[in-house]
Amino acid sequence: MIGIFVVVGLVIGSFLNVVIARLPERRSLWRPGSACPACGAAIAWYDNIPMLSFLALRGRCRACDVAISWRYPAVELLTAAAFLGAWLAFGPTGRFVVASALLAALIAITVIDLEHQIIPDVITLPGIVAGVLIGMGTGTWLDSLIGVLVGGGVFFVIILVQPGGMGGGDMKLGGMLGAFLGWKVLLFSLFVAVTLGGALAIALLATGLRGRKDPIPFGPFLALGGATGLLWGEGVVTWYLRGFGA
Ligand SMILES: [Zn+2]
Repeated sequence: MIGIFVVVGLVIGSFLNVVIARLPERRSLWRPGSACPACGAAIAWYDNIPMLSFLALRGRCRACDVAISWRYPAVELLTAAAFLGAWLAFGPTGRFVVASALLAALIAITVIDLEHQIIPDVITLPGIVAGVLIGMGTGTWLDSLIGVLVGGGVFFVIILVQPGGMGGGDMKLGGMLGAFLGWKVLLFSLFVAVTLGGALAIALLATGLRGRKDPIPFGPFLALGGATGLLWGEGVVTWYLRGFGA
């Protein structure tokens, strides 16, 4: 059973690589087929098998021998690991499917934000709608709707108070996470994101790897906080509320 999810994760990860490469350039996800970015040679199906082809080709294009980015196998492995994590957390439930879809979206958003400093609306806006609709199906729509308002609202205020730091993409991603996680788990996710982001920013400044003016995209931290909240947030929220006798 676990083997199936790993294979499905690798295949979806392979598709995410297409999304990551083409979405920021507004190219079709479906046509044409994959080609080498260096020499333009079409990639045959047997050279396009997740992980296996990369290993068989030793990470090089069959036609021109240029190195294939390690991003491709990394995204495939990460997606497989995410699906496995969702399976371990939720088992054979609808929540597993929803969690896997959200994790896949967060992986694509993370890599696109790292490479292009944008978070595509075509992922986050339908994501907000999907999250609220799923909440309507499971009876948690109010929690979702407040999550959208809190997640979007926090970043809206930050952008107003300190323009240039966060962007509209972060605001919409915050709304999407709120829609899927509900406002309580969202707050935990934001806490994780700010803690990790702050710690890394301090480390980068202290070591001189980044200057005070260099932008550090917040989307990847938000995605990581969202994934943490998705997998463990409810347990943490329950434990936290119990501490206050609620
Ligand atoms: Zn090539």
